Amino acid sequence: MSRDAGDLLFPPEPGSGFELDPGLPEQFPEDDDGELKPLLGDDYYMRAALRCAQQAADAGEVPVGAVAVKDGLIIARSWNQVELLKDATAHAELMLIASLPQIVGDWRLDGIDVYVTKEPCAMCAGAMVNSRIRRVIFGMRDPRCGAAGTALDVTGFPGMLHHVEVSGGLLEEECKTMFQAFFRTVRDNARKKK
Ligand SMILES: [Zn+2]
Repeated sequence: MSRDAGDLLFPPEPGSGFELDPGLPEQFPEDDDGELKPLLGDDYYMRAALRCAQQAADAGEVPVGAVAVKDGLIIARSWNQVELLKDATAHAELMLIASLPQIVGDWRLDGIDVYVTKEPCAMCAGAMVNSRIRRVIFGMRDPRCGAAGTALDVTGFPGMLHHVEVSGGLLEEECKTMFQAFFRTVRDNARKKK
């Protein structure tokens, strides 16, 4: 099945690879104070992002995957599609953020957390700030161009109107292993062609 940018529209068509979670209401019991408390931890959502990254790897894309979480539910998923869309801005996080206003009905993404397998670049970190993402949780740090505090600090830059809370290094080894395996395969294939 061929994909184009139309596939990024939400709600996604069944089988398009972009799916909304049906919801996990039984896992969100009310606490004593009447607030709904998610039982799922950060690892759960990062594993969902890793599955998105695998989709990218399977399609020959640099394996970065991301999910958006609101009130404990995954409301959108995305993965890197730069090659497919021939678009340098088609990073997992940026496409995720672009899809969210259609889901929540606002460009202000208050209370939404993004889980992504690699530290966001300056472009994606900037989009997170501008769209008021509450928190970004990333896997692998990117010493060369990570913009959530490693090479640059776009998410915490004092001049910005909004600061995105950052948690880095979650399931870092798993995220890094997938990344390194992808580039090893690319190198091996290039060598075989010579
Ligand atoms: Zn990016």
